[in-house]
Amino acid sequence: MFKTGVYYIPMKIYQTAVISTFSILLIAAVWLSLPARESVIPAYALASKVIVIDPGHGGCDPGASRGAYVEKEITLSISKLLAQRLSEAGAMVVLLRTEDRDLVGDGFSGTIAARKREDLKLRAQRANEVKADLFISIHTNADPSPRWSGAQVFYNSSSQPSKLAAVMIQEEITQQLGNTKRKAAPGDYYILRNTQMPAVIVEVGFISNPMEASLLVDPEYQDRLARAIFAGIAQAQVRTYDAEIENYPGW
Ligand SMILES: [Zn+2]
Repeated sequence: MFKTGVYYIPMKIYQTAVISTFSILLIAAVWLSLPARESVIPAYALASKVIVIDPGHGGCDPGASRGAYVEKEITLSISKLLAQRLSEAGAMVVLLRTEDRDLVGDGFSGTIAARKREDLKLRAQRANEVKADLFISIHTNADPSPRWSGAQVFYNSSSQPSKLAAVMIQEEITQQLGNTKRKAAPGDYYILRNTQMPAVIVEVGFISNPMEASLLVDPEYQDRLARAIFAGIAQAQVRTYDAEIENYPGW
């Protein structure tokens, strides 16, 4: 049923899942001693976490576009770069599509709108089935006016962990890219309401803004975006991980 799913399961997952207190303290000490925060990303809390990445749109649903620039292509490129970084840090990454197609499959006979609804339903369902620790959907924003720009992260307002992830990702994007003053914001979206784990939508920028659109298709800029999103996820996981350690009864 889910032909497009690909699992990245690192070989050393069981080793990395068990990290000694000493190595945590060592990593923390090195991290804190460095002046530039973004130079080292505290990735230890990502080990063994199941992270679902949802590259927005695909197949007959291109998403937003501007000339030759198409949302579904941008979201896939950035998602692949993000998947690479997360899996290298020990996370178990489920990338919901790896090519230009949706999740619905060839046998569907309904309308385009019905197909899109089914596609979204399958994306949420897939994340719920694998019991993901985090769901991250990648999209580009669009507006009739070309003047708006800047990446922005959305979360389900009823979920505190979702808000934490969104705020951390927004902060890293703001710091590392330096081209948005937008704040993480609550968003009432189907995918956020129907996923049973912390979930965020990252609108990586406005495809309707000519300058930002040309950045969004630039592989180097895509990599910077992926790095910032990765760093934000890591920061959120570190805070969650540290809170769990502090509350651990045997500590
Ligand atoms: Zn979209």
